[in-house]
Amino acid sequence: MADKRVYAFGGGDAEGKGDQKALLGGKGAGLAEMSRIGIPVPAGFTITTEVCMEYQRQGGYPDGLREEVAQHLARVEELQGKSFGDPADPLLLSVRSGAAQSMPGMMDTVLNLGLTRDIVASRIADGEDEHFLHDAYRRLLTMYGDVVMGVPHKEFEAVLEAAREREGVASDAELSSAALAEIGERFEGLIEEHAGEAFPQDPGEQLWGGVTAVFDSWDNQRARDYRRLNDLPDDMGTAVNVQAMVFGNRGPHCATGVAFTRSPATGEPGVYGEYLVNAQGEDVVAGIRTPQSIQPDAHGEGGLAPDFPDAFRELQEHCRKLEAHYGDMQDVEFTVEGRDLYMLQTRTGKRTGPAAVRIAADLVADGLIDEKTALGRIDAGHVEQLMAPDFDAEEKAQAIEDGRLLAEGLPAGPGAAAGRIALDADRAEAMAADGPVLLVREETSPEDIVGMHAAAGILTSRGGMTSHAAVVARGLGKPCIVGAGDLVVDEEKRQVRVASKTFAEGDELSIDGTAGQVIAGKLKPQESEVLQVLMQRDETQRGEGSPAAMALVRILGWADEHRRLRVRANADTPEDARVARAFGAQGIGLCRTEHMFFAEDRISQVRQMILAKDAAGRESSLAKLLPEQRADFEGIFEAMDGLPVTVRLLDPPLHEFLPHGDKALAALAEEMGVEASVVEERASALDEQNPMLGHRGCRLGITAPDIYAMQVKAIAQAAAARKKAGGDPRPEIMIPLAGSEAEVARLKDRVAEIVASVYADEGVEVDTLIGTMIEIPRAALTAGKIAPHADFFSFGTNDLTQMTFGFSRDDVGSFLPFYLEEGILPADPFASIDVEGVGSLVRTACEQGRAVKPDLHLGVCGEHGGDAASIAFFDEVGLDYVSCSPYRVPVARLASARAALKQGVREMATV
Ligand code: ADP
Ligand code: MG
Ligand code: MG
Repeated sequence: MADKRVYAFGGGDAEGKGDQKALLGGKGAGLAEMSRIGIPVPAGFTITTEVCMEYQRQGGYPDGLREEVAQHLARVEELQGKSFGDPADPLLLSVRSGAAQSMPGMMDTVLNLGLTRDIVASRIADGEDEHFLHDAYRRLLTMYGDVVMGVPHKEFEAVLEAAREREGVASDAELSSAALAEIGERFEGLIEEHAGEAFPQDPGEQLWGGVTAVFDSWDNQRARDYRRLNDLPDDMGTAVNVQAMVFGNRGPHCATGVAFTRSPATGEPGVYGEYLVNAQGEDVVAGIRTPQSIQPDAHGEGGLAPDFPDAFRELQEHCRKLEAHYGDMQDVEFTVEGRDLYMLQTRTGKRTGPAAVRIAADLVADGLIDEKTALGRIDAGHVEQLMAPDFDAEEKAQAIEDGRLLAEGLPAGPGAAAGRIALDADRAEAMAADGPVLLVREETSPEDIVGMHAAAGILTSRGGMTSHAAVVARGLGKPCIVGAGDLVVDEEKRQVRVASKTFAEGDELSIDGTAGQVIAGKLKPQESEVLQVLMQRDETQRGEGSPAAMALVRILGWADEHRRLRVRANADTPEDARVARAFGAQGIGLCRTEHMFFAEDRISQVRQMILAKDAAGRESSLAKLLPEQRADFEGIFEAMDGLPVTVRLLDPPLHEFLPHGDKALAALAEEMGVEASVVEERASALDEQNPMLGHRGCRLGITAPDIYAMQVKAIAQAAAARKKAGGDPRPEIMIPLAGSEAEVARLKDRVAEIVASVYADEGVEVDTLIGTMIEIPRAALTAGKIAPHADFFSFGTNDLTQMTFGFSRDDVGSFLPFYLEEGILPADPFASIDVEGVGSLVRTACEQGRAVKPDLHLGVCGEHGGDAASIAFFDEVGLDYVSCSPYRVPVARLASARAALKQGVREMATV
């Protein structure tokens, strides 16, 4: 006997199972599983994805398939007590496609298969509801004509529209029986005209026509494009589900709807969705009639319950049962036919970030999933969404009520932004000087980068989730909507038009990049409430906040229990340090001392120091800077009391601290009491062709040792002062930009000497680590030699990426988007670590370093420390910590836990 190719479902049981998605497709697996757990599903059967692939290979059906389908059809007929094609009591069927992963672009659904002109006539002759029959038949003609016979949908719609106008009704359901009957005839004519052949009046032919159209659609251009864009394999195949029809369009006691088992927007428990009375299938989403909400409104009124009390109660029960069974929020379709409620589909529901977080925490509280599973369901994007600025919910709702919702597009970058619109990048940059700007383009291209940087948000009328605008905006962390197709962006006329409204360049718009909504006028973006809640470190204050925020606090707590990596923050000031600590940072992984140099009251001393010719000239400036730096470090050690603080010694080239332009130099000369020419000469001596590869970092520390000496003294003195004050400072002094053992050895000895002498003078001893950044490929490759001179390595992956690729990180904007679009690079290597190249340097350095010094501390302080994919890699190579910007700390805590849990699974799998 040939392999089983058709699986029955419905009638209280199923041959397939929910975990056979690959074989039965998502829809088929869901129908089978629902049947098994006693949820009422109209009987039917699933033709497997394997048949689809066999059909694709052979260009025809495998032997025996027709017989197998006939047997299953007979079973459905028996269960339903009707026969397919029987004019006295016909069984009608739907044919529904369903791949393992939902896939727009393929043929979707044909309803009411099995109706013919004669059957309609015979049922009417027997006194059955004429309106219903004509309605069902014209729907079959539309769907079959469209998806099987290739007649453009709009042809049918035009006929319907004319009929609605003639009868003065708003929806097709209100058309008279006579009109529907006539429409049926017109549709038959349309099909024959367009397709060159008549709509088949043989039910069996209809069934196979539908099945074949589904299988053929697997290989159509749109489906192939979709798979390519989403990295889906071409050999998955789609299943076909053939199912007995139930009717939501059989009068006022019938309805059809879609629902989520919890709110997909907020995660609030309770069935949430929409339904239409006396309607069928796609009417709910088609938008011709406005559906009603299933849940009652804010005053507890309306909803499905008043008119359909039994159906509502059953729907709630089925939803609860499905959630308990799947352990996750479901997205379901249902139909009410008189007394009976049928479930037609279930799948895991898509949700926003706030909903994902709340649902995961609530399901744990309900005992449906465990903490690890919850962690596995929350990703960085969800947390980012929760932390992104948003509009006040009421203000936004009001604006929408006032008709200010202009257009909807793809939510490409979460967060809210509002401002004056600029229609090209140059204008955006210029206008941004006077307040927030939205860059509005048809689509963006690499020349727009500067404008995208300058803009508060980005809006395009074309493009998808991986378009240039979307990719770049996400990289920049900017709110972004793409593909808002209703907008006409007229660069010539400097206008944006939508429906009847026109906005000139400079007019104000608002975008909600989380929801994909474009709103007229300026709403006020506000800081996410979650930030406040997360910053209340004091447990007694907890308990205040939205459910989503409170859920995030709980989930981050679980993340802390499951992660191995520690999470530090990059923070340069006591204020940043406090924020970071509130977000859960366990220390500072990078404190950049040069940021302090830019402080208004210091920059002049710094400049005087830089412009001095020699050490003698620098002495007095350094002496003045010493107490200032000491105070900085004291503040930071205090804010991070008991936690490590890695201070990087001066890193950038000195030229960066000098003012630009002749005028500014002249003013500085005056302040210093020297001739302008002296300052100019010295400044031009510091000028370098390639400053990022120039006289900076440890090179400066070696050639001008007094600068580092001052900084080290300030660090040690600050630590001593904190210790004497009863604090617990944990300083770590970090040497930047080293490429060789000799550099590190020399500086480490000097630093150690100064530290020792300070502690001797102060009469206290503070454990002080001295280590180096690994950010030059040579340092990574010779890490075994460097390690004996270092207590720790901190990977500066920004520079390491720059130097490994030879990409200037400030100039990649001119080609990187192109590289990404063309697939030359899989991802921006400055955002997510290039595991293959840069990662292998990190791995090498870790292995060499730990081989000579097993207790060597290892961390990362580049941007990658806050990127989830990179964190997974850092966990795998065994770093001790990651360090990222304070606002990324929650994401890093979560990502570290997810990495550790995955790591656990991987290790178990290899045992
Ligand atoms: P999609 O994947 O586009 O949602 P579906 O196969 O789920 O396509 O079907 C589209 C619509 O038709 C849905 O609203 C569904 O409820 C309805 N439908 C499908 N099969 C039946 C059926 N046997 N009886 C009643 N309605 C059905
Ligand atoms: Mg569906
Ligand atoms: Mg660097």
